[in-house]
Amino acid sequence: MTSLEALPVAIIGAGPVGLAAAAHLILRGLPVRVYETGETVAANVRDWGHVRLFSPWEYNTDAASRALLQAHGWQEPPRKAMPTGADLYEAYLKPLAETPEMAAVIETNAKVKAITRHGADKVLSKGRGTKPFVLAVSNGNGSIRRDLARAVIDASGTWTAPNPLGAGGILAEGEAENAAKIAYGIPDVFGRDRASYEGRTTLVVGAGHSAANVLLDLAKLAERNPAASIVWATRGENLMRVYGGGSADQLPARGALGSSLKALVDSGQVTLVPGFSVIRVRTAGEQVVVEGETAQGLREIGPVDRIVVSTGQRPDLNLTRELRLDLDPWLESSKALGPLIDPNLHSCGSVPPHGHRELAHPEPGFYTVGIKSYGRAPTFLMLTGYEQVRSVVAAIAGDLAAADDIHLVLPETGVCSTNLPVDGAPASSGCCGGPAPAKADACCAADAEAKAEGKSGCGCGPAAAPERTVTEKVAEPAGCC
Ligand SMILES: Cc1cc2nc3c(=O)[nH]c(=O)nc-3n(C[C@H](O)[C@H](O)[C@H](O)COP(=O)(O)OP(=O)(O)OC[C@H]3O[C@@H](n4cnc5c(N)ncnc54)[C@H](O)[C@@H]3O)c2cc1C
Repeated sequence: MTSLEALPVAIIGAGPVGLAAAAHLILRGLPVRVYETGETVAANVRDWGHVRLFSPWEYNTDAASRALLQAHGWQEPPRKAMPTGADLYEAYLKPLAETPEMAAVIETNAKVKAITRHGADKVLSKGRGTKPFVLAVSNGNGSIRRDLARAVIDASGTWTAPNPLGAGGILAEGEAENAAKIAYGIPDVFGRDRASYEGRTTLVVGAGHSAANVLLDLAKLAERNPAASIVWATRGENLMRVYGGGSADQLPARGALGSSLKALVDSGQVTLVPGFSVIRVRTAGEQVVVEGETAQGLREIGPVDRIVVSTGQRPDLNLTRELRLDLDPWLESSKALGPLIDPNLHSCGSVPPHGHRELAHPEPGFYTVGIKSYGRAPTFLMLTGYEQVRSVVAAIAGDLAAADDIHLVLPETGVCSTNLPVDGAPASSGCCGGPAPAKADACCAADAEAKAEGKSGCGCGPAAAPERTVTEKVAEPAGCC
């Protein structure tokens, strides 16, 4: 068999982070193979191409990818401009994938269905680390081929595995039966999906940025057709996370999203039903009625024409069933990241810089990166992913000095809080407190800067990692940095 070192590093997914990993490998002269299930690279980004990002170009590109592009005469988009997903694809990811170096190693219409080690299932320990990885790859023609790899970087994202409407994380009763009236994620209500929403009553479920995007689009559409109405149901009662930091957010577009949403609710254009846990959907003629549990007992919303489920995504763990992974028990993120991005504890989710050590699993040579490394946590930023893959690729190349030299400063959200209230209780905001370690994340950086200027800083808790319990109460405010 070919020696391990002669085999390529396999990257699963040609999204922004998978492509960045490939660019780093190419610049280091390591063989690489990128598998992308879509017809083009960045299939997930293209699916939400109508959505405007909240981070400007300066935060959306990776250094190795820029170097490859610039070698072929690429002009960087204006750093402060805010692209849509479609712009990100057209102006950056597509030209990147078309550079001769990248085009030679990317295969589209190639879905990785499973990963294992040559001749070893999950149970077998002997000689495990010396056996190549085997990827089962489907080109959609019914057959599955097997490719070997020396290491695997899983950058397959979470976009195509949405959480269900059911508040408990499983399908609500009637959800499957009424699938034709339900959309997941962020439908393109001005474009390809317009006919389904114009003049209709729509219920949006969820309390994140995706829900905010959908609600704002629906409200704009409703301005042209007053027959439309919009209901917004959230499981929690506290909307601090989605309303956000407004002008305190270092990504102004992210702050504006929350502020605009709050204005829609305050003006009555959107009817908010907080504290509503969906359990059932039932057909009512051409429409549907949604039943949920509330603090006051069972309640119904509807009838409505459409439901948009914007309740986040989860990682596809089937892909890695035969590998030895160490995941956070409830976020399904890389284990080391869990305590830092747990939405039970933090609203910020901006993590201390991290790299190959935090992203590795007990399976030597396998790394989960990009938004999938955050599992079910909703706060991933591309910039985080770019630093992840720089470190992981350096580790694969054996350059541990570079792999361990992690540096990342993220833009701060104005609601970076470590003592999220139990729903209903008042929130204390402010970002992470405590002394900022060197090379701090954004929260800590802001905190440190404020203290250096003789101000009191913006936080409140100690710097220790917050304690996580399996029950719902967060006993003490704690620092996330
Ligand atoms: C609507 C929206 C707006 C966002 N806005 C921002 C923002 O403003 N700023 C920011 O920093 N972040 C933003 N994010 C978060 C995050 O940065 C993006 O989701 C980003 O696309 C994540 O990149 P990724 O490469 O990890 O995953 P993805 O972009 O999801 O890419 C994964 C790729 O893997 C492919 N794939 C999946 N499964 C397989 C398989 N089995 N075999 C082969 N290929 C596979 C997919 O087709 C896809 O191309 C946003 C996310 C969303 C959903």
